[in-house]
Amino acid sequence: MLIETMTRQASIALLDRTRLARLAYVRDGQPHIVPMSFAYDAECLYSFSTLGEKIVSMRANPRVCVEADELINVEKWETAIVQGRYEELPDTPRYDADRRHAHTLPQRRPVWWEPGYVKTIIDGKERPLELLYFRVHIDRISGRRGVP
Ligand SMILES: Cc1cc2nc3c(=O)[nH]c(=O)nc-3n(C[C@H](O)[C@H](O)[C@H](O)COP(=O)(O)OP(=O)(O)OC[C@H]3O[C@@H](n4cnc5c(N)ncnc54)[C@H](O)[C@@H]3O)c2cc1C
Repeated sequence: MLIETMTRQASIALLDRTRLARLAYVRDGQPHIVPMSFAYDAECLYSFSTLGEKIVSMRANPRVCVEADELINVEKWETAIVQGRYEELPDTPRYDADRRHAHTLPQRRPVWWEPGYVKTIIDGKERPLELLYFRVHIDRISGRRGVP
């Protein structure tokens, strides 16, 4: 097996065709990571969530990292890593068009809605189902692939 660097275009193509990624954020100096659904569009990754630790943390520190991969087998795989910036799309007139766009993107694959917008009960408390849209601006991207 060889491991080779992917072009920016190939890395973006990977982000475009995968839906599940890992989002890393920093809370009080400690990195955290969660699986997340994303949709790539125009140098950004779009997603949605209810209010919890990751949203609170990204509001405080918008520097994030996202990893996406396609693992066929141990010799054949592609991974892309993004360093980027969190931007919330609040429910204000200025963000109307962006929110509509963020709303439309996942509907191409309806199953996406499930984990991002589902009744969540943590420590016996039910979380309010207030939908938040956000995007990650891609500042830097790198890709590697394993070739048999
Ligand atoms: C396939 C898939 C797709 C998903 N897509 C989305 C999405 O599009 N939008 C979305 O908001 N969420 C999505 N999730 C759920 C996501 O991984 C988080 O569990 C969820 O967003 C809650 O995050 P939070 O920061 O609000 O957690 P909180 O409820 O505030 O809890 C924070 C703490 O709980 C723990 N924790 C949180 N999530 C997980 C986890 N998944 N596994 C283990 N420990 C965890 C960590 O220790 C973290 O520090 C997806 C999950 C899966 C498996």
